[in-house]
Amino acid sequence: MQTVRQNEKLSRNRHRPVCALAAALLVASVASGCAGQSGDGPGPARSASPAAGLPGAAAGQAGPAPAADARAEEVKRQQAARVAAAKKWGLAQVPLTAPAPPARKPHLTTREGFEIDGAEGEDLPPVFTTVPTEERVVFLTMDDGSEKDPELLRMMTELNIPYSAFLSDYEVSDDYGYFEEMQKRGVTLNNHTLNHPYLPGLSKDEQREEICGEQDKIEQRFGKRPTLLRPPYGNYNGDTLRIAKSCGVKAVPLWAAEAFPDHMEWREWDQDLHPGDIILTHFRGPSDWDASMVDLVRNVMKTVTEKGYAVARLEDYV
Ligand SMILES: [Zn+2]
Repeated sequence: MQTVRQNEKLSRNRHRPVCALAAALLVASVASGCAGQSGDGPGPARSASPAAGLPGAAAGQAGPAPAADARAEEVKRQQAARVAAAKKWGLAQVPLTAPAPPARKPHLTTREGFEIDGAEGEDLPPVFTTVPTEERVVFLTMDDGSEKDPELLRMMTELNIPYSAFLSDYEVSDDYGYFEEMQKRGVTLNNHTLNHPYLPGLSKDEQREEICGEQDKIEQRFGKRPTLLRPPYGNYNGDTLRIAKSCGVKAVPLWAAEAFPDHMEWREWDQDLHPGDIILTHFRGPSDWDASMVDLVRNVMKTVTEKGYAVARLEDYV
């Protein structure tokens, strides 16, 4: 029971680790300044809430230092938990913590060479492989849904690593519960069509069924309509984007690199990661690639961390 509660807590905290850190540091600096003025020393924590401590600090009354201590302790506890999780799951290095999400999401445009001929001037969802940002962050995305490894859910929660899922209904319909659990842990479920077809080979009506049908399916099953579509194989045409827009899709994130349990495949000529790169991988298991999802994450995190990147949450930027 204890473990479950801890996991839930980690899950709730997972999107804002640096916010929490920044808040704690801010409170710590305000608090230490005020504590110095009022002459308050450290004492038993009266409240873990920085908001509760600040008014007293402003009035030069009860010292907020204990509250700041509690926050700092929480940040320390989270980092210690991540170190322990990295060891438990056999990661080569402790994953880096992503900076706070941008106050305003970056303006997305379609990558050069990925435009639709003849659709100039049309307001279509942008197609991109990298999110414009200066931060050393990358985004982890997992597609399809055939492998439903409970260890993956535990690992990602304990490591506090964000990722986004792009689901094809025909792969997930035998166990919606698995993805419901994933969603509860903070993962956004996005659209990867009902049956994973080559979309440009379909008629408009068939594309509408595949794309908008999956929008409806995810909304019905999981209570939230996706805003992101990844067309299977990264193939699309003008109809794909127009139809996707008509049923609620705002953006079409493709990928700059694809992760496998034993190697990476790169889109860019320099065979490297760049700030904002989207990494694709798949829900696959031993029958597909002779390795588990845990092995896969271990490998991709080795590359990401060695290159000095943190994994950020795609939905914080897109
Ligand atoms: Zn796929």
